[in-house]
Amino acid sequence: MGFGPKPKPLSGDWQALLASPLVQDTLVRLFGGQLPVFQQTNRLPFMSDDVMGMTPLAGDTVSFYSNAASPYVLLHEMGHVLQARHMAPMAEAAIVSDPKNRPKRGSYAETSDDEHISEAFARAMASGRRGFADSTEAQEEQPGAIEFIRWLLGQPPFHQASAPAQQSMSASPQTGIAFLLPFLAGSKGVLAR
Ligand SMILES: [Zn+2]
Repeated sequence: MGFGPKPKPLSGDWQALLASPLVQDTLVRLFGGQLPVFQQTNRLPFMSDDVMGMTPLAGDTVSFYSNAASPYVLLHEMGHVLQARHMAPMAEAAIVSDPKNRPKRGSYAETSDDEHISEAFARAMASGRRGFADSTEAQEEQPGAIEFIRWLLGQPPFHQASAPAQQSMSASPQTGIAFLLPFLAGSKGVLAR
């Protein structure tokens, strides 16, 4: 429905990120070839400047508000798309119900279950950049991330990249997972809704 500002062309920065291996080799496969429509709009009048993205409950569109592309913002919003599609119900249940996954006090993840799940997803995907070698740190930084790391290990493109199963995930660079952009740099304090 026609709610909010009209979309405008995506910035070159966003176009470059959406054309990168993170999206074309990883997110496309993880989401079964069906990505949402990505668009850029102006913020609505009531939105503060730190709101970087928005995904409606239907999960069919993702709106970005800044010209500056951010892998973290993209992955956070894709966490909402994942929720809309009910792709990982067991991981979601564990994130919101297991006491070990309780969000940090004052963190954005604490604001709602949906945001907690999206934050955990974004951190788990960032860990994928390192072949999940930092999974313990990921869980400490963003409680609940470990649930999505476990889930991702069974999903394309991560699943096939991890063979043979007994091999350490951090043993070698993994084909098919080419994360070119530094996920974590600058991600602190970036707020996506
Ligand atoms: Zn959010």
